[in-house]
Amino acid sequence: ASESVSYDHIFKIILVGDNGVGKSSIIRRFCEGTYTHDMDTTIGVDFYLSEIDVSGKKIKVKIWDTAGSEKYMSISAVYYRKADGVIFVFDMTRPRSFTNVVSVWMNAVEAQESGCPEAIKVLVGNKADLSPEVDMTQVKRYAELHDMRLVEASAKSNMNITEIFTSLAKEIIDER
Ligand code: GDP
Repeated sequence: ASESVSYDHIFKIILVGDNGVGKSSIIRRFCEGTYTHDMDTTIGVDFYLSEIDVSGKKIKVKIWDTAGSEKYMSISAVYYRKADGVIFVFDMTRPRSFTNVVSVWMNAVEAQESGCPEAIKVLVGNKADLSPEVDMTQVKRYAELHDMRLVEASAKSNMNITEIFTSLAKEIIDER
């Protein structure tokens, strides 16, 4: 008998947003169950793998990390290519990181030709364990306008991290 695990789906999920909003922390919390205060932003891997079960289906998720290249706002096209899900992350204590979702990251994703027109988008306000500085009314309006689910999360206190990925996987399945 074959020992290999088979999957019903394999999804590529990417995270975009300003440097320091907590993208790597979210990925590591989800894939490894860990949180580190001092993240080494210089050492990055291309992607992490995880497995989730959604509605009786076994799903393998490949989660890509920008590995610090977002600092230069020059993420390569390979990163965006054929993504099934895009997670826009901002830091709830840094209003600028939200306005950059609006003015930089959304455009970067939508400008991809070979990119992800059909990708499901989610908006994540990270660092919900701290006092928010971002006007969440404005954020909610923006999320509705772009047909995105809005999740307030914390990689530090493990709030809503699993929910980001399982709901996204479910939405991707439902869309097919
Ligand atoms: P990235 O550049 O977007 O990948 O962000 P990192 O994951 O490297 O996180 C940047 C900094 O924010 C690190 O010092 C993290 O420890 C911290 N951080 C990440 N998530 C949270 C969170 O949910 N709450 C708090 N308080 N700090 C966080």
